[in-house]
Amino acid sequence: LIQINNLQKQFGEHEVLKDINLDVNQGEVVSIIGRSGSGKSTLLRAINLLEPPTSGEITFHGENILTPKYNLTQYRAKVGMVFQSFNLFNNLSVLDNVVVPQQTVLKRSADDAKAHALELLQQVGMDPFINAKPGQLSGGQKQRVAIARAVAMDPEVVLFDEPTSALDPEMVDDVLAAMTALAHTGLTMIIVTHEMAFARDISDRVVFMDQGVIAEEGSPEQIFNHPTQESTQAFLKRYL
Ligand code: ATP
Ligand code: MG
Repeated sequence: LIQINNLQKQFGEHEVLKDINLDVNQGEVVSIIGRSGSGKSTLLRAINLLEPPTSGEITFHGENILTPKYNLTQYRAKVGMVFQSFNLFNNLSVLDNVVVPQQTVLKRSADDAKAHALELLQQVGMDPFINAKPGQLSGGQKQRVAIARAVAMDPEVVLFDEPTSALDPEMVDDVLAAMTALAHTGLTMIIVTHEMAFARDISDRVVFMDQGVIAEEGSPEQIFNHPTQESTQAFLKRYL
């Protein structure tokens, strides 16, 4: 579904991504793990073109998204993103946070958008809070609304950048459960996370990034139980 070839990203002299090659198949759940500063967020931001790559190729359904004639608006609608910091509209109710983008971006009718929003808010356990404002919610609740909002756009892929790292520990499980439920619907997901047990359980494939390169990738069993690279072993030791 998404193919990344020889992707490179520099900020000035600093080469943050070096020759990244990664294919993500339809329906696949891929987790990206690695140290702080290894380039995980930059890679996600390159995939949805918040940070245009310096060089290399990204294709979506076989089409190069980096050519000027590519329809980026359509692409961004197909590739959702959930951030560490939620980014909800604080002046809108929980329901409207999920309804309004469907109306403005997808031109859905109010009734259709509302029905879809209610279904997804129920799926993430936030249906009791539809009339609340984000300011009245806990971090974990906000994040579940943000997930429902991303999924309401009918994306083909959702990118998650450490969706639980800003949360109090007791909130983390609800958000991870919502993501696990989503994974079971067949949604393609790329997840940057420091939750290793979660990555092991949810992922079809785990990618370990180190200093701007993919140092190792494989099944959760391979990466967590039989890592071959010293850098992967050293990183994972900190989680034992
Ligand atoms: P973390 O686990 O802490 O979130 P990360 O793996 O997501 O780390 P990135 O945020 O991708 O790491 O950053 C990788 C490197 O790129 C860091 O050295 C960072 O300082 C640098 N970097 C990221 N964004 C920018 C930017 N906009 N301008 C300059 N340098 C940047
Ligand atoms: Mg990051």
